[in-house]
Amino acid sequence: MRRVEAIVVGGGPGGSTCAWKLRQAGVDVLVLDKAAFPRLKLCAGWVTPKALQDLELAPADYPHSLLTFETLRLHWGPLSIRHTSRQHSIRRWEFDDFLLRRSGAEVVQHVVRDIRLENGEYVIDNAFRANYLVGAGGTSCPVYRALFRQQNPREGNLQAATLEQEFAYEWQDPECHLWFFSDGLPGYAWYVPKAGGHVNVGIGAMAGRLGRGDRKLRDYWDLFTQRLARRGLVRHADYRPKGYSYYLRGRVDHVRNGNAFLAGDAAGLATRDMCEGIGPAVQSGLRAARSIVDGADYPLEDIDTLSGSGFVSRTLERRFAGSVLAA
Ligand SMILES: Cc1cc2nc3c(=O)[nH]c(=O)nc-3n(C[C@H](O)[C@H](O)[C@H](O)COP(=O)(O)OP(=O)(O)OC[C@H]3O[C@@H](n4cnc5c(N)ncnc54)[C@H](O)[C@@H]3O)c2cc1C
Repeated sequence: MRRVEAIVVGGGPGGSTCAWKLRQAGVDVLVLDKAAFPRLKLCAGWVTPKALQDLELAPADYPHSLLTFETLRLHWGPLSIRHTSRQHSIRRWEFDDFLLRRSGAEVVQHVVRDIRLENGEYVIDNAFRANYLVGAGGTSCPVYRALFRQQNPREGNLQAATLEQEFAYEWQDPECHLWFFSDGLPGYAWYVPKAGGHVNVGIGAMAGRLGRGDRKLRDYWDLFTQRLARRGLVRHADYRPKGYSYYLRGRVDHVRNGNAFLAGDAAGLATRDMCEGIGPAVQSGLRAARSIVDGADYPLEDIDTLSGSGFVSRTLERRFAGSVLAA
């Protein structure tokens, strides 16, 4: 059986950030991920300046596709505004692999199934054991299921359902567009161009509110892609969208249980207004690492619950007189 000081389950932004800081502090850490990296991660790939700052990553130093937007195009019904706010887009395929490699941690491809506590150590699938365990395995994280689910049941009203697709496309419009509540969608749709000739389009909505209407997510998707074609943003595409669901920040009471920690989507930390999950995953990964290294507390209070202190929600309230998602 392999023995290390700390095991991180999941090599996404939450896990890789935690592993990076643990490695910097000299902790013997192993990352277990079921996927071989680079791996597909469904995500629009919008990343905030704050998230890059937390990652100590200057946009100019990032060696892969990164596009900077100085404004966002926000649409609501017939209204449309250009909102000044610097934001970035990356491709998760590249970004997550870059962060995981940069962490310097050893990564083993392994599907974590069984977790038990034995003599103060976490034993995983009778193959690995460690004093510390970090669950950063996304919505279906096995650490959440084994050690936290009973204390932190998922709040169904905070479940976001999504459909999205990223593909090579010679886009002509370099702006990031967001459509709120179009065609009655209880959420928003996006068009996010990427450097190097890719685009990501998708829709996200509160799953509970979707169930109340006649339309299914796939119906909204069809209406949305028709809109993209009408506006000339994406004229021809072979659409085969994929779906994923995750949880927005609710009452998360337990992110530490003995020497086990949760980070990112495993804890359900995406922002309540914009469903931004990369920033909160990074912030929680940093805090979990600090807690392991210094014995510091692992407070969630200073992890953002709104994106950019609510810049989009405030703008929508002010300019369109409405509010966003679960905010
Ligand atoms: C369609 C969509 C669009 C989104 N757009 C944005 C956006 O533009 N900006 C933004 O900030 N957020 C966005 N999000 C949210 C964001 O993608 C997530 O919140 C973020 O990826 C969470 O990071 P994480 O490290 O917690 O988990 P993940 O990135 O999901 O990483 C979890 C890792 O755990 C591994 N894993 C899972 N189970 C096991 C197991 N049993 N054993 C071993 N490994 C396992 C997985 O392979 C994966 O690599 C979007 C989400 C979706 C679904």
